[in-house]
Amino acid sequence: MSKRDFYEILSVSRTASEAEIKKAYRKLAMKFHPDRNPDDPEADHKFKEATEAYEVLTDDQKRAAYDQFGHAGVDGSQGGGGFGGGFGDAFGDIFGDIFGGGRRGPRPGDDLQYELDITLEEAISGTEVDIRIPRQQDCDACDGSGAEPGTSANTCPTCHGEGQVRIQQGFFAVQRACPTCHGRGKIIKSPCKKCHGDGHVTVHKTLSVKIPAGVDSGDRIRLQGEGGMGEAGAPRGNLYVRIRVKRHAIFQRDGDTLFCELPLSFATAALGGEIEVPTLNGKARLKIPAGTQSGQRFKLGGKGVKSVRSSRVGDLICEVNIETPVKLTDDQKDLLKAFDESLKGKPGKHSPKAHSFFDSVKSFFTSDDDNKSNNKEPWNS
Ligand SMILES: [Zn+2]
Ligand SMILES: [Zn+2]
Repeated sequence: MSKRDFYEILSVSRTASEAEIKKAYRKLAMKFHPDRNPDDPEADHKFKEATEAYEVLTDDQKRAAYDQFGHAGVDGSQGGGGFGGGFGDAFGDIFGDIFGGGRRGPRPGDDLQYELDITLEEAISGTEVDIRIPRQQDCDACDGSGAEPGTSANTCPTCHGEGQVRIQQGFFAVQRACPTCHGRGKIIKSPCKKCHGDGHVTVHKTLSVKIPAGVDSGDRIRLQGEGGMGEAGAPRGNLYVRIRVKRHAIFQRDGDTLFCELPLSFATAALGGEIEVPTLNGKARLKIPAGTQSGQRFKLGGKGVKSVRSSRVGDLICEVNIETPVKLTDDQKDLLKAFDESLKGKPGKHSPKAHSFFDSVKSFFTSDDDNKSNNKEPWNS
């Protein structure tokens, strides 16, 4: 198969600058990268083609040879190794931040997460909590070297201390952890007894976490530099404390609104009165109008929550749930029967809802007959 012209592949002029070539290659590589086009041989071919063109045209010597002799000037110039030799570098150069390839320098530590259960009261007014976390740190016996004190680690002969080796896989050069030293870059003959040659030990650390007032489930508090250990010379990751608010016996929270159920006796609901309701900061008095129904809601302004993200204090909503009296004595039953008797003869006056409901039920069951008798089919007459 004859090769296409490198300039044509990248769609750049023969006088294109290195920056123009880079830009053109980046565009093509983003489009045809195998990570984005799995199992697509055509994209794979285009990606390799563009990479080869880029490799040659950004190397002054190779570009000059290509300009003068065409493909013959650069083919085989690397002793049969293709273009893989320098590929890892070119790749990291452009894509280091996109595909994670070619990263330079030690890797920072992982971010960790800690789930913290707190009460609703703590979430609303804020608190300070001590948490104990396991944490890896440099072994103090060997100062993190992993070698028994008095001895020292040797540089790994396979990777020369890099910790990584480059393996040629077809066209690609892939970086792998060194098989000899398992990525550490050194060989330890007499491992430290305390850390068994790891260079780090796990200790428990107590951290004081400030929980700001108004946090809610799912909120995260970041403790900078309290996460996983980084590679030598790299910073630790962060620790995220994720809040989980426990269920409360009385209140449910939705944003800055608090809800509570308000059980009312049948008599209080009917007669009205003043009752005490719970709020987060003590009791409050609430006027219940006569004739209050189940499901009716009363709002206590400003008795809700001040969210961590706003300055507004929400409301407390109390929802009435009327309790039917249970375990009545015979006397009480007689009183109720007499009371019920007193309501008769005044349909709809004392229970308008029930009255209109049963009216609807009646017409619901009789409507079929009504339809039959009333159906005059005007369009036929
Ligand atoms: Zn040690
Ligand atoms: Zn090694």
